[in-house]
Amino acid sequence: MSNPSEARYDVIVIGGGNAGLCAALSAREAGAARVLVLECAPFALRGGNSRHARNLRCAHAAPTEILTDAYSEDELFDDLVRVNGGVTDAELAKLVVARSAECVPWLQTFGVRFQAALRGTLQLDRTNAFFLGGGTALMNSHYAAAERIGIEVRYGAEVVALDIRDGTFRSATVANGERRYEAHAQAVVLAAGGFEANLEWLREAWGDAARNFVVRGTPHNTGTVLRQMLAAGAAPIGDARECHAVAVDGRAPQFDGGIVTRLDCVPLGIAVNRDAQRFYDEGEDVWPKRYAIWGKLVARQPGQIAYAIVDAKVRGRFMPSVFPPFEAASIPELAAELGLPARELEATVNAFNAAVKPGSFDPDALDDCRTDGLTPAKSHWAQRIDTPPFTGYPLKAGITFTYLGVRVDGQARVVATDGTPFANVYAAGEIMAGNVLRKGYVAGIGMTIGTVFGRIAGDSAAHHASH
Ligand SMILES: Cc1cc2nc3c(=O)[nH]c(=O)nc-3n(C[C@H](O)[C@H](O)[C@H](O)COP(=O)(O)OP(=O)(O)OC[C@H]3O[C@@H](n4cnc5c(N)ncnc54)[C@H](O)[C@@H]3O)c2cc1C
Repeated sequence: MSNPSEARYDVIVIGGGNAGLCAALSAREAGAARVLVLECAPFALRGGNSRHARNLRCAHAAPTEILTDAYSEDELFDDLVRVNGGVTDAELAKLVVARSAECVPWLQTFGVRFQAALRGTLQLDRTNAFFLGGGTALMNSHYAAAERIGIEVRYGAEVVALDIRDGTFRSATVANGERRYEAHAQAVVLAAGGFEANLEWLREAWGDAARNFVVRGTPHNTGTVLRQMLAAGAAPIGDARECHAVAVDGRAPQFDGGIVTRLDCVPLGIAVNRDAQRFYDEGEDVWPKRYAIWGKLVARQPGQIAYAIVDAKVRGRFMPSVFPPFEAASIPELAAELGLPARELEATVNAFNAAVKPGSFDPDALDDCRTDGLTPAKSHWAQRIDTPPFTGYPLKAGITFTYLGVRVDGQARVVATDGTPFANVYAAGEIMAGNVLRKGYVAGIGMTIGTVFGRIAGDSAAHHASH
């Protein structure tokens, strides 16, 4: 067997999630003969955060088999700009939006299958295409396609250093257990995710609060490649504190709990901190445009803990957590179950109930059920919490992925601090998502960014390698 350190590839892709596999498939499609994917996880954990994802967001002009109605490019662009408070690289955001419509048919050519969207608090049937079998099935399709078309994949292959000289990538140092070797290529695609699984780095950004964060996805996205690339002179993009973070069940494991620990009941009830005080408008906007801020909201509460409380009226209207809820016949009893101060919780619920204005409850629309004269207000879906049994869930900040990344251009080339692109270094997915996502998130855009930029990066890298 040849020594892997002597192998020379056209394109090396670092990271075997959706962005990496899209880049590898696209590089092969564009004619790169020798494509290598270096994935640090073992086979069983391949696919990074992508194996947890369920859908991607895409513009479309008319109903399709898997999407209802129409979702114009303008509307998707507006959604993206709004959730980011107007701060985004508009050119790259437009590129993502314009190419989002191609994602489903392109993925289908490699065997990815989709299903009709779900209804309920997700409200995504018009905007998001759901992977049949979820992200794990998506990643299995990707890896099967990679094998069919001759892409080499190495598992347990952690890139620990990059050799970049004069703006040009030469090789990556790969650690495989005790063994280390160099992998050389004409071009490299960085698709190794963010730094969300690096608790030390999170602590640098968030201070001690990070100790109470839960990492929803893979423990392997530690940001090693991002750090290496920034040290090599890549221009950083985004803020280390900005991230996608949702409210997860407080009983979730430290890593890789995935989607089943997320709690979607917040807009249907109230959320209180450990002092039993409400702290934010639970019904500010539809949940797909708000769920991704709730991790940060919980992170700012004392002890980084909060509690969602609903009553029997909304049972069955949200996806339940994998953990059983705390339940009681009265609010003081529920407070005791949750370890909250009973009198304070009762006072908070009473004040909330007194402020609820009559309206027509509609969980699928921005309804007119709101509070009056209450701070913070609840702007939609405000119903009295008065029907036992009462249900509560502890909430923790569940970090999904970080936005600090490397700056790229429209060809997915990584750009140096002096504004010039590296000669043969491309990036896709979480490691560059901050170019588009600075503050906020719309559900499904992570996989869209990874697919669109994965395709572009693979294509650009293959073209570079052929010249
Ligand atoms: C629970 C959960 C649910 C989600 N649901 C959705 C959803 O429904 N829709 C959506 O759009 N987004 C969703 N996301 C976000 C989405 O998963 C990410 O935006 C997307 O997966 C990013 O793809 P990626 O390829 O950049 O990263 P990843 O899929 O995480 O892949 C990165 C890969 O790089 C590997 N790696 C890391 N460091 C190294 C190294 N040094 N050397 C070699 N390999 C390395 C990792 O092992 C990993 O496999 C979800 C995320 C989570 C955690």
